[in-house]
Amino acid sequence: MPRTEPLVARMREFGTTIFAEMTALATRTGSVNLGQGFPDTDGPPSMLDAACAAIRAGINQYPPGPGMPALRAAIARQRTERYGLDYDPDGEVLVTVGATEAVAASLLALCGPGDEVVVFEPYYDSYAASIALAGAVRRPVTLRPDVDGRFTFDPADLRAAVGPRTRALLVNTPHNPTGTVFTRDELAAIAQVCVDADVIAITDEVYEYLTFDDATHIPLATYPGMRERTVSISSAGKTFSVTGWKIGWVCAPVALRGAVQAVKQFTTFTANGALQLAVAHALDNEMPWVEGNRAALQTKRDRLAAGLRGGGFGVHLPAGTYFVQADVRPLGIDDAAGYAWALPERVGVAAIPTEVFYDDKAAGRPFVRFAFCKRDEVIDDAVRRLTSAPG
Ligand SMILES: *Cc1c(COP(=O)(O)O)cnc(C)c1O
Repeated sequence: MPRTEPLVARMREFGTTIFAEMTALATRTGSVNLGQGFPDTDGPPSMLDAACAAIRAGINQYPPGPGMPALRAAIARQRTERYGLDYDPDGEVLVTVGATEAVAASLLALCGPGDEVVVFEPYYDSYAASIALAGAVRRPVTLRPDVDGRFTFDPADLRAAVGPRTRALLVNTPHNPTGTVFTRDELAAIAQVCVDADVIAITDEVYEYLTFDDATHIPLATYPGMRERTVSISSAGKTFSVTGWKIGWVCAPVALRGAVQAVKQFTTFTANGALQLAVAHALDNEMPWVEGNRAALQTKRDRLAAGLRGGGFGVHLPAGTYFVQADVRPLGIDDAAGYAWALPERVGVAAIPTEVFYDDKAAGRPFVRFAFCKRDEVIDDAVRRLTSAPG
């Protein structure tokens, strides 16, 4: 006899991920899907060819657990050339099944029952679930719009969130869903807290290349005292527009990387070998494509932002990522979640209610997240639907 509630207690607050739910609703209603953040065009052709060629060449059995040597070497080269951060490809780089597995394995490896993990909210939804899987407790620090509409934190809130049970700080920059790219000063404040409290930093840098205007991504590991305590995570999904490939990685000092691998070897053991080789090729050869894609995304950001402004939304222009935060209060609405859930049925557009990424629901209540990593005609179609049925 199955029990009435088979799911373990610590996972019950996490139903189906919002992205799956909203995409299902978009499909059912024939809506334009600006909810889930995946591009609707392909990555660099030479990378796709490299993947096909690797499969044809018989790269179809278990790759080494830590990842294909060619990819680990390419990742180490990328960190050195772009950021001046040196990692040994043999002992300090680990390939994972996307950044999602890298975050989950890091939390499971480094945090135990009762440990606290400080995380900026709104937070990516897998963070809360992975913290819970580890039996740890999340301590959110709320990002709020400043006078210019840029989401940021009060350093006093950050310091107050850190206590004797704090084991790790989980930092995502460029930040999904607010589009904030932490500045040099913000990162210095975060680094100082980590060093003072002697805690580990886990950084999610999947949008490291997707920054706009004069914003640049600075890895937290470049700050004094941080390399030795930071697990840096990134992924090919956003950089090369292949979110379905799920090739991610961890760069960390030997002991931390070893801890993450100790868990990772029993969750998936290893990631797809042919795709790893293709990503290695792309890291070494397709940076001009990445820059072209970044510039195109900036234009798409402006296109969607202009459309939303025209539709009466308050728009928070992001400095990075795939997403715009729209404030529904100027439309005379105060519950953005109710608005977002009704939107597919009512006007045929799907978006994500930002509230779901907050513990402090009131802080997220006015905002809806729209994705602009879509073809121009798709963005225009969404804007047309939104503006022909205002309010
Ligand atoms: C998309 C995304 C991920 C997931 O990356 P995968 O490599 O597909 O697992 C992780 N973190 C953030 C902030 C993301 O937006």
